[in-house]
Formats: sequence, structure tokens, C-alpha cells
Amino acid sequence: MSHEQNNRLTDDILIVDDTPDNLRVLSSILTNRGFKVRKSLDGHGAITSAKATPPSIILLDIRLPEIDGYEICQILKADPNTSHIPVIFISALDDILDKLKAFKSGGIDYITKPFQEAEVLVRVETQLRLQKLQHQLIQRNDELARFNRELEQFAYVVSHDLQQPLQTMTGFAQLLILKHQNNLDETSYEYLRGILESGHRAQQLIQDLLGYAQIEHQTQKFESVDCNVVMAKVLNNLQTIISEKKVDLTCEALPTVVGNETQLIQLLQNLISNAIKFVRPLLSPQVRITATQQNREWLFEVRDNGIGIDSENLTCIFEVFQRLHTDSEYPGTGIGLAICKKIVDLHRGRIWVESQLGAGSTFYFTLAASSERLNN
Ligand code: ADP
Repeated sequence: MSHEQNNRLTDDILIVDDTPDNLRVLSSILTNRGFKVRKSLDGHGAITSAKATPPSIILLDIRLPEIDGYEICQILKADPNTSHIPVIFISALDDILDKLKAFKSGGIDYITKPFQEAEVLVRVETQLRLQKLQHQLIQRNDELARFNRELEQFAYVVSHDLQQPLQTMTGFAQLLILKHQNNLDETSYEYLRGILESGHRAQQLIQDLLGYAQIEHQTQKFESVDCNVVMAKVLNNLQTIISEKKVDLTCEALPTVVGNETQLIQLLQNLISNAIKFVRPLLSPQVRITATQQNREWLFEVRDNGIGIDSENLTCIFEVFQRLHTDSEYPGTGIGLAICKKIVDLHRGRIWVESQLGAGSTFYFTLAASSERLNN
């Protein structure tokens, strides 16, 4: 028996029509093809039957005595247990089929009487195939989401467990330098400094990775957040580097949005730190932050006069570990923008960059205006 035939045996089709002849014709077309068929002469009976044992597909007459097909379809689509069942409407040629109403009530296709065997089979089999593909897609999505969660959990545990031995290593290297600096020859001293620097870099990487993995584990409570308060906290965190690098930073009045304050601080801080870090040689960084309302969302811009990014790399830089420079040119771990993207995704916004190499970049992100609700 072929796979297709095997599938048909498990496909259970509910036909609803108040004319026994129609039921008989449709039923024989489908049973001859190998499908299991259930029949119902009235609408209420069909609803009870579908709810008790959801069929694979329903062929539903539009004109039924007590309750019409559109209404039955709406009732089934409103119930989570039956909403996934594809409904194909049956209409007589002399009926004025209200196609719009049929699709609006949740129908997926229609067939007309008198029945053409080939047409009935093609429409039913197409819908069944589509339903199976959709089901597979949902399953695959669930699997991927689970896999991602496991991977993040793994990264979190590994990073967390690596912290302690690394701290011990860098601690002892530091002690050796402190205590025996004068007894060490130049090469040994350089080796020790190498160990220390690599250790610090690994620690930074682990911290950033943990930060990345933790975002999704933080409580996702969204509330009204005044971005001026967010900005004040960011400026406070960055005050040393801002004054050291003589940053010319301007920021317009910012709106109140719906979001998570801690994450929004991290988002703006990462973007502004980058705007300062990727400065062109011999220039002072200029950073400008603005926000404009566009319908129901706010568009934020963080503009700099830095080294810019070539057009090929405008999207990849939002992925984890994507860096365009060596650590000696510009230090970093390549996680900052991935964190920004994750935060904006969790806020159901968008983030992107426009840039001109050698002239500067503008990072854009959108956030819902404060009347929007994101907590469900
Ligand atoms: P990191 O800053 O640690 O390297 P990010 O994820 O923050 O990691 O950024 C990824 C890469 O994107 C950076 O290495 C840099 O090449 C590029 N980039 C980010 N922000 C800017 C900017 N404002 N100007 C120029 N390049 C940038």
C-alpha cells in the first residue's frame, strides 16, 4: 500500500448536507478513493460531531435549515479544538455563493453542485496536503524553539562554570607578576602578561555571553518607561569614557514607551558605546540621539561620525560574534549588537543600520508607543 493510500485511511472527512442524495454522491466519491467518511444531515449534529472527534476536513453545505454553513464555520473556528480543521463549502450552482462571506467565516475553499468527481478529489486532497505541511511546520518550529532554548541554557551553564577556573588562573598570574616581577626575565614577564590579557579577554567574552543568554531569562515585565530616565542612567554609566574621549553627545527629548527599563538601558548603552568606540582616528566622537513618532511606534536614531560600515556587512553585524575588526584595532567581543537585536525583538520592534564607510553610521530601532500593550 502506498504512503498516500495509507494516509487516506487515517483521514476522516465530515460531510454536512441536508440532502441525502448529495451526501451519498460525495460519500461514495471519497470512500472509493479510500477516505473514511462521516455524514451529518443537520448543522447542530455536525458541530457536536466535530467537537467530539475533530475530523481531518469538513465539507459543509451553505444552505442548511436551522443554522447556515457560515455560522457553523464561525462556531468551529472560534473553538481552539476545532479551529484548525479546514472547511470546504458546498454550494449549488444556482446559489449565489457569497465568496467573501465564506472566506471571512473561516472557509478555505468551495466546491459547487452538481459535483465533478475530479474537482472534489483535487480540492480535498490539496487541503489535506496543505494541512499536513502546516502541521509539520508547526512541529518543526516548536522543535527549533526548544533546541534554541536548550542551546542557550547550555551556553549559560558552560559560561557560568568557566568563570571560576578562569578567575583562579588570572588571579594567580596577577599574583606572580606582583610578587616576582623583579625576579622575572623579560620573556617570562611577557608570557605572564600574555596569560593575564588572554584571561581577561576570555572573562569579558564569558560575561557578554552570559548577558546574551540571560536576556530571555529576565522577567519580561513591560511597563511605561520614560526614555529620558533611561538616557540619564546610560550617561551616568558612560560618564568616564564620555569625558575621556571628549564626546560631543546631543540628545533630544525622548518619549515614554512600553518596555523593560533594564533592557532599554542596555540597548542604548551598547549603541552609544559603539558610536564612541568606532571613532575615526584623530576625530572626537559626535553622537546624536533622536526619536520621532511614526503611527503607533517610535523610531529612535543613534547617529555617529565614526568609521562607518560597508554595505555588505550591514545585517551580519547583528549576529553573535560578528566583528569587522581585530581586537587590537577596536577591542570587543562581537556580542553587543546581538544583545541589542534580541532586546528589540523581545519588544517586537525592528533594528537596522544605515552607514557610509568613512563617514559615520546611524542605528535605527523602533519601540511601541506607550498606549500599546506587549505583555500578552
Ligand atoms: P563589538 O563592539 O564588541 O565588536 P558589536 O556586536 O557591538 O561587537 O558590534 C559588531 C561589529 O559591528 C563591530 O565589531 C563593528 O565592526 C561593527 N559596528 C558596530 N557599531 C558600529 C559603529 N557605530 N560604527 C562602525 N562599526 C560598528
